[in-house]
Amino acid sequence: MKAITFHGVGDVRVESVADPKVVDPTDVVVRITTSAVCGSDLHQYHGRGGGALVQTGAIMGHEFMGVVEEAGAAVRSVRAGDRVVLPFNVSCGACEWCRRKLPSQCATTGKAVFGGRFGHVWGGGQAERVRVPFADHLCEKVDPALSDDDALFLGDILSTAYFCAENGGIRPGDNVAVFGAGPVGLLAMQSAQLFGPARVFAVDRVDYRLALAAEFGAEPVNLDTGDPAEQIRTLTGHGADVVLECVGHETPFTQAIQAVRPAGTVSSVGVYVEPSMGFPAREAFFKDLTLKMGICNARNFIGPLMPLVARKKLQPARIVTHTIPLGDAPRGYAIFDKKEDRAIKVMLKP
Ligand code: NAD
Ligand code: ZN
Repeated sequence: MKAITFHGVGDVRVESVADPKVVDPTDVVVRITTSAVCGSDLHQYHGRGGGALVQTGAIMGHEFMGVVEEAGAAVRSVRAGDRVVLPFNVSCGACEWCRRKLPSQCATTGKAVFGGRFGHVWGGGQAERVRVPFADHLCEKVDPALSDDDALFLGDILSTAYFCAENGGIRPGDNVAVFGAGPVGLLAMQSAQLFGPARVFAVDRVDYRLALAAEFGAEPVNLDTGDPAEQIRTLTGHGADVVLECVGHETPFTQAIQAVRPAGTVSSVGVYVEPSMGFPAREAFFKDLTLKMGICNARNFIGPLMPLVARKKLQPARIVTHTIPLGDAPRGYAIFDKKEDRAIKVMLKP
């Protein structure tokens, strides 16, 4: 089959690889109908973490959905022909952490993600097919009323964005600042609106992303026109009640802490792969701030959020700017990375 494989910094290729097969009786093979390029793929693409994030030759992608093609003998909850969406983290559903509803900490898979290198290595979903283990636990059937563009992000960026907003503890009337108007930040803005904030601010430097943020009811703050934390403090008086950090680098993490009001909350979902980084500890300490950060337990959110998408209270498909053939994925990565051609979310069709 055709798949997108990693070959070094800025180098992903379309290659012919072996078809995945049912190995364990709890596996299914999914024929992929849509996958996407995620901001987390860019960390791999940039070689971040000293190449610790992906192996050369590995199949990329952890955001994918499709139709079950073959099911192992022990699989009960889905069968061939079922349309399913999968979470980005690979979890068993049965270990101590999964039983505590923390599948991102799965002890059986070693906190694995599809197409990643932590824990056990599983092939990614930027391909024609993918092997999905623990299928009874991981597969979620998709409401037939939802298009792939509506449903796909439940497995990753919509769940992550909602998790970010929920961790922020937004209360009615709050001022919320969202750092990053990429796919995750934009969906965090949509999610934040569900909690009744008075104002939502969108911080980024990319004009067309800020324009879509404005359509989602956020007030754009261009970080190139002045220190964004200072801009947020000026706009809100004392700082935002809640800051949602959706970028994943030291600078926006620092700015998020500087932009929050005393005793406010910073909720961070940007991916940090460095073992440590700088952090305005004194400011955080004297502000009495609350910090929440982490990898999303996407499996927990797919079911609860699906009806919100069906009722259009969340409209994830609005961030889709490009739908291209899987074979064009190298171009898809490049335009998403460089923010060319007004790219926000790039969908791949096998
Ligand atoms: P993206 O790279 O498209 O978006 C990042 C945006 O941040 C860009 O628009 C960029 O212009 C902007 N930006 C850069 N510096 C900034 C700053 N100082 N202040 C404000 N904005 C700034 O990626 P994305 O797909 O939106 O993903 C965002 C982050 O979320 C990534 O780090 C990704 O790995 C992470 N992520 C985390 C999880 C999780 O489970 N925690 C899941 C999915 C994605
Ligand atoms: Zn992702």
